[in-house]
Amino acid sequence: MKTNPTTPPWDLVVTALEAWRKELREEPSLGETPAGPGSEEPAVSTVAEQYQRNPWAILVSTIISLRTKDAVTLTVSQALLQKAPNPASLAALPVEAVARLVYPAGFYRTKAAQLKKIAAILIERYHHQVPATMEELLALPGVGRKTANLVLTEAFDLEGICVDIHVHRISNRLGWVSSANPEQTETALRAALPRKYWKGINSLLVLYGQRLCRPVSPFCSRCVIYPYCKRQGVVRSR
Ligand code: SF4
Repeated sequence: MKTNPTTPPWDLVVTALEAWRKELREEPSLGETPAGPGSEEPAVSTVAEQYQRNPWAILVSTIISLRTKDAVTLTVSQALLQKAPNPASLAALPVEAVARLVYPAGFYRTKAAQLKKIAAILIERYHHQVPATMEELLALPGVGRKTANLVLTEAFDLEGICVDIHVHRISNRLGWVSSANPEQTETALRAALPRKYWKGINSLLVLYGQRLCRPVSPFCSRCVIYPYCKRQGVVRSR
């Protein structure tokens, strides 16, 4: 795992991506791809805004979001949070009821069991609150670095780089890093990416990965950061 020896033009890339996102919000048809039209933010960011950055809401929706499409994550999170707006109300629900609420998110039974355990731990050890350190979050069932980083940045406004499959893939394609997995990408980005971009890079690249820099055959011909991209590992594009 390594960062690129030449310094990427961070400011130019981020400015171009922010301008693209702004345009997409104003003109949603710009985001039309075979994945479907859309100008929406990643589901967890939407939940974060809707629930005034409530850490419980963000933790719950991030767990639901794993291996689940954004539209499903959003509706499931809203339904679950309506019934269980805090750890105590979720702890009071039978696990089968939680699973029914989490369905049709992927691995809904596993996630329901994890959420029950998390609620119990928060009640018992953290006075019903979500802890605000990486170490404590990682100790919760089903919480990995992606979830922990997202909770720290979205809920507590702390520093972190949330690296999911989109951030991992695009960082490698751009030539920012050469890494084998999201954990390595996070380490490399922490060493290279200016701190001012740590928090925002996830939502920018997730949206870009969903709309243009698709996993298979990205839309390079329509890419706003094409001049800055090494297209590392891209074998087919549109
Ligand atoms: S040029 Fe292609 S591979 Fe590079 S960021 Fe743009 S869409 Fe992705």
